[in-house]
Amino acid sequence: MTAAASPTPRRVAVLGSTGSIGTSTLDVAAALPGRIQVAGLVANSKWADLAEQCRKFRPRVAILTDKAAFDAADKSAFPPETALQFGDDAVCRLASSPDVDVVLSAVVGAAGLTGTWAALEAGKTVALANKETLVVGGSLVTELAARRNAKLLPVDSEHSAIFQALAGHTAADVDRVVLTASGGPFRGRTAAELEAVTPAEALKHPTWQMGPKITIDSATLMNKALEVIEARWLFGLRADQIDVIVHPESVVHSFVEYADGSVLAQLSPPDMRLPIQYALTYPDRVHGPTRRLNWRELSRFTFEQPDRGTFQCLDLGFEVAARGGTCGAVLNAANEAAVARFLTGQIRFPDIARCCRAVLDAHDFDPAPTLDALLRRDRWARQEVARWTPTQTSR
Ligand code: NDP
Ligand code: MG
Repeated sequence: MTAAASPTPRRVAVLGSTGSIGTSTLDVAAALPGRIQVAGLVANSKWADLAEQCRKFRPRVAILTDKAAFDAADKSAFPPETALQFGDDAVCRLASSPDVDVVLSAVVGAAGLTGTWAALEAGKTVALANKETLVVGGSLVTELAARRNAKLLPVDSEHSAIFQALAGHTAADVDRVVLTASGGPFRGRTAAELEAVTPAEALKHPTWQMGPKITIDSATLMNKALEVIEARWLFGLRADQIDVIVHPESVVHSFVEYADGSVLAQLSPPDMRLPIQYALTYPDRVHGPTRRLNWRELSRFTFEQPDRGTFQCLDLGFEVAARGGTCGAVLNAANEAAVARFLTGQIRFPDIARCCRAVLDAHDFDPAPTLDALLRRDRWARQEVARWTPTQTSR
């Protein structure tokens, strides 16, 4: 018997390397040096963190997208083999470079669309954490991936679970998928109680350690709304084939219900390093840094229906997944702007859902937009949120 040849390491560009998903990705890369080679790193402004990552992983390219941070960066903190570059054009060059096999897309927000688009256009495999890319432009992005024969592999834990449970099947075999939701820090609270919650309380997630924007999205359940839209595009499902169930333990990461009534799920502790690793080593399964489920500690799993009356963002997600067109770009931009206003104390927690609803309802709907039309709606929605004020009757 001869030993199996070791695989050639995949050359990975990490867009958003200094964030929560980015640092987890580098943990996986450090644990699997024979499988993953870090080819390039992208951050917005945290140049000192980026420099430290470069000293450890020695990529060919590192990019900052914030000009002031690029100018301020101590260039001598970067190793000589790493070229420090600036801006979105450099991100697109990296994402489409012949020296890159996989682009791990983990920039936060609609800003992630640029690099993801360039990678798909170049036919790269994209490991997609940046769900906003599919929320904003799902139809164009999936059409581009198909046209360029580019693989789009989910990193979001629920979508990775569905992808794993779908192995060997297609949407035609599936009746529906059920996304699990932790319920966030405010599960069980009443609408009246939510009026007074603070950014600090909303930033404390019970099961997942994540960046601030997605942590607020998890508290409003907008994260699950965005994931409904993400699932609609990734798996080619109708909105009425997608459901959400609250599962506070965050161990069962989603369910696929097949035509014959069988239900398949994927389970693991809440740790993003596992879905990241699966996307980077796909289709191989190898030992990695993620701890195992401890079967002695597990006693029961609980499930409950989401409170859609109190957490109104969820309805927005189902509505946008069903309507398509420009709705995703408007909802996503309105939410990003509203979360920023909540975090700076300008609006209350339930105002996030209220102003997203108002801006979505007021927008100029186009059922089959171009990329330019989507980006115009994105800018418009942000301006609308900036001038939105809560009315007395909305509270
Ligand atoms: P973080 O806020 O922790 O990190 C964001 C990263 O993006 C940072 O590296 C940041 O750089 C960089 N960045 C921000 N703006 C830009 C820009 N304009 N251009 C280039 N880079 C930019 O976010 P998360 O890691 O939590 O989330 C990243 C994405 O992954 C989101 O789309 C989120 O929805 C998704 N996701 C996250 C999960 C998680 O567990 N965190 C789970 C599932 C999905 P800098 O540090 O310099 O600001
Ligand atoms: Mg998720």
